[in-house]
Amino acid sequence: MTAQIIDGKKLAQSIKDRLKSEIAGLAPKPGLAVVLVGDDPASRTYVNAKEKDSREIGFYSEVRRLPKNTSEENLLELITGLNQNPQIHGLLVQLPLPGHIDESKIILAVDPAKDVDCFHPVNTGALFSGLPRAVLPCTPAGCLELIKTTGVSLSGKKAVVVGRSNIVGKPAALLLLQNNCTVTICHSRTADLAAEIRQADIVIAAAGKAGLITGAMLKKGAVVIDVGTNRVDGKLTGDIDFASAQEIAGFITPVPGGVGPLTRAMLMQNTLNAYKAQLQK
Ligand code: NDP
Repeated sequence: MTAQIIDGKKLAQSIKDRLKSEIAGLAPKPGLAVVLVGDDPASRTYVNAKEKDSREIGFYSEVRRLPKNTSEENLLELITGLNQNPQIHGLLVQLPLPGHIDESKIILAVDPAKDVDCFHPVNTGALFSGLPRAVLPCTPAGCLELIKTTGVSLSGKKAVVVGRSNIVGKPAALLLLQNNCTVTICHSRTADLAAEIRQADIVIAAAGKAGLITGAMLKKGAVVIDVGTNRVDGKLTGDIDFASAQEIAGFITPVPGGVGPLTRAMLMQNTLNAYKAQLQK
């Protein structure tokens, strides 16, 4: 039996449709500002997609495209202005930034109330402590939404997260833990990746290594969420070897059309949540 494919595009569209109808009745509109420094092609594509989603849903949208040689000081000034702008409820600076800009300074400069990427330590700290908060980390929250559509209950399940980055691996592990999974985090120094994965009812792959995880490494019937986005011969491919994994997994996300659309939808959800939290103040 082959795995059921989890359709991220369809799920993301239904979330965006729900947001669109909720936003139609709101005044003022929630506002999202996206800042892009430089001309990295992948970042440009992501920013364009965020702008498109934002307009489609009915947000007030601002995109600031700055040249690669923008100084850290000028970027910080722009962030301060957007932090103070009452039309803006969500603010994100697209990463990675050019080498002369200190990313951690930029992350700290964004008002935590507007930090819709959930990168500021106030928000990651709240996630760590399980405190109530308006925003969730977009990609990990998207992974959870995808898992939930399978109907597989998370409580008591063994989950393996491959990758320990601040953006994906660590927060994904925390969300699984909050949903009562028993969680193992793997990374490049893990002694026997296959042995860890073979025990997992749920696998979230976020290593950025094409085809790292094959069907032979999976437990039969596992829920497999592929965050990886790798370019191989110009083609977008995940960290999971889809053909072999599909024969063993119970549910699997495709690349493209799996986690990516959910990451974008969660950003929109965070913007609406941040808006509501700011209006309540
Ligand atoms: P990072 O490069 O920051 O982290 C990669 C992690 O994978 C590291 O913790 C690294 O371990 C681990 N790793 C690397 N190689 C191996 C290996 N052979 N075995 C086990 N673990 C390994 O990447 P990100 O977390 O930012 O992103 C991960 C992937 O997800 C990328 O392909 C990225 O493009 C994609 N992505 C997709 C998104 C989407 O919306 N679809 C959003 C964000 C990211 P160590 O710490 O030891 O170096």
